[in-house]
Amino acid sequence: MPFSHLSQQLQHLAAQHLYRSRRVLETPQAIRVQIDGQSVLNFCSNDYLGLANHPDVTHTFKCAVDDYGLGSGSAHLICGHSIAHHALEEELADFTGRDRALLFSTGYQANLGVITALLGRGDAVFEDRLNHASLLDGGLLSGARFSRYAHADVSDLERRLHKGTGHKLIVTDGVFSMDGDFAPLSPLAVVAKQQNAWLMVDDAHGLGVLGGQGGGLLELYGLSQTEVPVLMGTLGKAIGTFGAFVAGSDVLIETLIQKARTYIYTTALPPALAEATRTSLKLVRAESWRRDKLTMLIARFRAGAEQLGLALLPSQSPIQPILIGDSKKALAISAALLNAGFLVSAIRPPTVPQGSARLRVTFSALHDEVHIDALLDALAKAYFFDTSIY
Ligand SMILES: *Cc1c(COP(=O)(O)O)cnc(C)c1O
Repeated sequence: MPFSHLSQQLQHLAAQHLYRSRRVLETPQAIRVQIDGQSVLNFCSNDYLGLANHPDVTHTFKCAVDDYGLGSGSAHLICGHSIAHHALEEELADFTGRDRALLFSTGYQANLGVITALLGRGDAVFEDRLNHASLLDGGLLSGARFSRYAHADVSDLERRLHKGTGHKLIVTDGVFSMDGDFAPLSPLAVVAKQQNAWLMVDDAHGLGVLGGQGGGLLELYGLSQTEVPVLMGTLGKAIGTFGAFVAGSDVLIETLIQKARTYIYTTALPPALAEATRTSLKLVRAESWRRDKLTMLIARFRAGAEQLGLALLPSQSPIQPILIGDSKKALAISAALLNAGFLVSAIRPPTVPQGSARLRVTFSALHDEVHIDALLDALAKAYFFDTSIY
């Protein structure tokens, strides 16, 4: 039998409660969705600002399809770089306070492309232990000496930097995707400068959500292009559309255009998507009520969860994980919540470290207090109930 060893591997994953399967969504992204035929309240989307199905954004997309057609036809360097992509890049540069920005088709590709373009054999890359998989993969693929420092531990990083050779790149999530906490960017920028290293921040979960105008963790901390020369952001989360970008100096962007293989050898995003993203970006900047609303919902949830004695992590972001530990138990609580009409994902290894399975609760500006209160009630029942029956 071909693939019999694969069947065995799959059985092994299932036995460890690490098997993954998809649920089928039958409605647009929203706070109430229908999934596998069941209507549920959604607490696991990254659509933090509620823009994925905003009427202005979808209307722009439809009109832009009439103007531009659908497919981009080729890569940016052949004939796929449209006026819509170009305008979005200029607006992203302005939004992030950087000289220039370069669109990538996905965040995963952006991270692979940047790290492999900047580093090679003889260089060194330093990554936070909890970095997103795409950052770790980019570091490994680059061929540079690969070093993972303890989570958010600037002293551990400093010790490792002393031993680094060649060009040195420090890479970190801004807001950590599975923990919700912030990277210590100001101290990281100081250490980077002292050790003559470059700092790269992936702000996939901060962009749109943090800072007065939604400029992300760098806006919140007031960090310039000199302090953080490489900023990566994604468009599929708070921005509500799809794609990603890298922002920085002219020489960085020109280098990526010449050398980032995931930029060069892939089809450009549909131009209508770039147009829709321009509309979304205007909403992100102008409608600060969405960020204020999130702040209020987060505070309400944390106060309620602390009262219940749930194991929260120190997160000020709309990512509010509840630490469970055991994968089987995390799955059981997630199943009990689903049964009660609440969609909360159980995140298990290898996405998070062994023994740290968790429920990853996320909030949207479209949630209301009643939704938070209902979730807390359901959590109280599911968390303390005997879940061994599942
Ligand atoms: C989602 C995510 C990515 C990948 O972005 P995509 O556009 O979904 O490929 C990269 N980094 C972080 C931290 C993310 O959360």
